Amino acid sequence: MKDKLAWDYIVPVVLCKHLKNARPGLLAPTKIRKTIGGVLHHCAADAWEAMVDAAGKEQIVLKPTSAGDTYRTLAQQLAGFNQRYQLEPIEGQSTRTYEGKKWYLKKGMAPLAAPGTSKHNLGIAVDVANAKGHTLEWLVANVKNFGFSWEVVPEEPWHLRYVAGDNVPEAVNAWKESKNVVPNQQQG
Ligand SMILES: [Zn+2]
Repeated sequence: MKDKLAWDYIVPVVLCKHLKNARPGLLAPTKIRKTIGGVLHHCAADAWEAMVDAAGKEQIVLKPTSAGDTYRTLAQQLAGFNQRYQLEPIEGQSTRTYEGKKWYLKKGMAPLAAPGTSKHNLGIAVDVANAKGHTLEWLVANVKNFGFSWEVVPEEPWHLRYVAGDNVPEAVNAWKESKNVVPNQQQG
């Protein structure tokens, strides 16, 4: 049975202690690691892998839309931002503030967070491929157990962030134990 968790489940991000003074998009190599489909901060990587495993047992394949939709460096975020936004005003288009200036979303482009402000820059966000149908139903029923939540719904059903910080969810700890992952061996 589903608990109260619903489609509009959005909670604020709690950062784990390793991310408290981290510079977004400039994370030290010790803070991030390769994970399923990309790179994530190690605390989010554990939760992501635990969730992918659990989904797989129910024939749901979770993966990022691309490696660039896991951790994004500042340079990657800036490149995407420059493709989608311009300084010259466009009437009726949404805007972002970046470096004290107002930027206008080009027509036909999907919105993107300003460089340094995306949770992808902290390595705790994943854009899940095919976040619809059965996959989305599974996510709606399960993300909370793994410490993830949405940021913007219904516009971005694919965009999940790890929100649990150091309060590692039971399901993630259980998965780590089952994998025999030695805790506290990661640096940074
Ligand atoms: Zn995203």
